[in-house]
Amino acid sequence: MNAPNPPDDIETIRDGIDQVDARILELLAQRRGFSVRAARLKGVQEAPSRDLLREEDLIAERIAGGLDHSLDTGLINTVWRQIIDDSVRVQREVLGRNEVDQRSLTVAIQGIEGSYSSLASRQFFDARGLTELSFVRSLTFADAFEAVRQGRADAGVLPIENTTSGAISEVYDLLLESNLHVIGDIRFRVRHCLLGLAEATSSALRRIYAHPQAVAQCSEFLAGLEDCEVIVFGDTALAGKRISELGDPAVGAIASEDAGRLYGLETLSTDIANRDQNFTRFVVLSQQPAEIPEGVTAKTSIVMAVGNHPGALMDALAVFTDTDINLVKLESRPIPDNPTDELFYLDFEGSTGDAAVAAMLDILTTQVHFLRILGSYPSRDLRSRPTTSSSERSATSAGPVEEPAAPPKAVGYKLGSRGHKDHNTVVEVGGVRLGEDPLVVIAGPCAVESWDQVMAAARAVKEHGGSLLRGGCFKPRTSPYSFQGLGFEGLEMLAEAGKAFGLPIVTEVLTPEDVPAVATKSDVLQIGTRNMQNFSLLSAVGRSHRPVMLKRGMSASLEEWLQAAEYILAEGNQQVFLCERGIRTFETSTRNTLDLSAVPVLMQRTHLPVIVDPSHAAGERSLVAPLAHAAAAVGAHGIMVEIHPDPENALSDGPQSLELDQFGRLMESLGVGS
Ligand code: PEP
Ligand code: MN
Repeated sequence: MNAPNPPDDIETIRDGIDQVDARILELLAQRRGFSVRAARLKGVQEAPSRDLLREEDLIAERIAGGLDHSLDTGLINTVWRQIIDDSVRVQREVLGRNEVDQRSLTVAIQGIEGSYSSLASRQFFDARGLTELSFVRSLTFADAFEAVRQGRADAGVLPIENTTSGAISEVYDLLLESNLHVIGDIRFRVRHCLLGLAEATSSALRRIYAHPQAVAQCSEFLAGLEDCEVIVFGDTALAGKRISELGDPAVGAIASEDAGRLYGLETLSTDIANRDQNFTRFVVLSQQPAEIPEGVTAKTSIVMAVGNHPGALMDALAVFTDTDINLVKLESRPIPDNPTDELFYLDFEGSTGDAAVAAMLDILTTQVHFLRILGSYPSRDLRSRPTTSSSERSATSAGPVEEPAAPPKAVGYKLGSRGHKDHNTVVEVGGVRLGEDPLVVIAGPCAVESWDQVMAAARAVKEHGGSLLRGGCFKPRTSPYSFQGLGFEGLEMLAEAGKAFGLPIVTEVLTPEDVPAVATKSDVLQIGTRNMQNFSLLSAVGRSHRPVMLKRGMSASLEEWLQAAEYILAEGNQQVFLCERGIRTFETSTRNTLDLSAVPVLMQRTHLPVIVDPSHAAGERSLVAPLAHAAAAVGAHGIMVEIHPDPENALSDGPQSLELDQFGRLMESLGVGS
């Protein structure tokens, strides 16, 4: 509508408004047409006619779009809710579907209707105009996560901390393991009441059913009751339900007033907790990240791990101060598969869509060993300013893999590039600092074969100044008929040998499913050449808290190799190093061709440490020492060599394995450990 502005008299203005309105009506009719077409498609595909979370996202988008035209948030919110309601009505007419079933949002909770989780869910979704909820009842927190993951529920609402009893560690651990996004949180006031049948009185109660947390939180009240036994129950609302079924006026329960109403019980006493202010914070989870309407205050939850040295946590927290981002929460938890390190859960103001937050996260990833974003979401309980305006918002919202202001030259990778991080990554394993220490030597047998074999190899590694003990337990062999390794039994032996000689251990992991179990034992996870582009395996080690040694694919370019490393980094794990092990060329004199030029090239492109494996490159033990020297000369941060107490009888890679005294001479000539 580029017509020149007509002269400003009221009649012309009214005409103009009439024309715009006519156009709006036309557009509404056109929009309805699309709704009808969508309904027909849904009918064919049997898709539900209403997707409440998608609707919320759409409204958020429209609000953001409206702000670009300086339109009021409230106006857009109201108008589009009406438009969407109309669209749903039209679609239902076309489909002839049952209203109620289609409308309800399913929420997975631990517990039953009437539990505090269900009440918090209602409060959370009510405030967002989603009033018709149905619950997927789960016995455990893990089941509730699973229900959302499998799509049996649209969202999950889980308690994460209580003002009296503190953090609910199981939910923190599940949050880290799951792929779900935090899309909201709610502080819910827990008001415990004593409930009983209509004819019951508090003094006549002889038994009270209650959740252990409720027992702890109401201990003073319970101590004041005479002749009354407390029976611990897994769920507050279920306690209420149970006593209503029992029908015995001498039996009471501790639960909410709402649970009492739901199960036909009387409230005998209200607010019986020791503390008046008893709040539980719940997190709301979904498969999709939340859309954050502009102008709405937002919060982001992340989880990170820092190095195990003085000042590591301080350095990471300083990033928040330096970038002026308000940290509102810090909670620490031990790492399940790596108990010497701590994980930190942080909440801060702003969303990953804000340029300032994206820039802060960019810097933070260069300071930590692990970083994962759990979600950005609108939050009401923040003290300060709303999120930044649209011009300051960056285009994408993927967190640490976001494009920075000046994109690096790297193609297809960012976190691993020099542009992202100007200092070298130091991989910390036990006392070893790979990337900083002079030539780190990793050595051990190709495969763990027996207790005696691995102990003899470990002794040699220690005696001659090696830093890490390596042994294969799960062996990817070119032929399916070759020895495949001793599996977890071998890992047990390797771990014991490592412990006996004070050497951290390295072993290869072959499948995503094995990663958690291998990570509990092995200090470093190796990804072998045949798996360099096994992306689900890369993602799995990216989620673990152990350093990863990524070997080069035998036909992979440096670019592809760095992109593979990026898969690991993008999942959160920043402790990655690269191992050049020879590539396939036309030359057949050696098993592979050791690409030593990769070392200086990589050092220009990436901050990740680079080591060299001359054993698999050469395939022949007489070539290992000269190539190891060449690797040191070209600037590798470390080398990895295969050694065996009896190479002639080795079950794998015997011809390339050094005898133990040969290894000793190599170490001496390299000047390592002397
Ligand atoms: C190994 O390290 O024993 C191994 C199998 O190496 P690659 O993956 O480089 O062949
Ligand atoms: Mn080998």
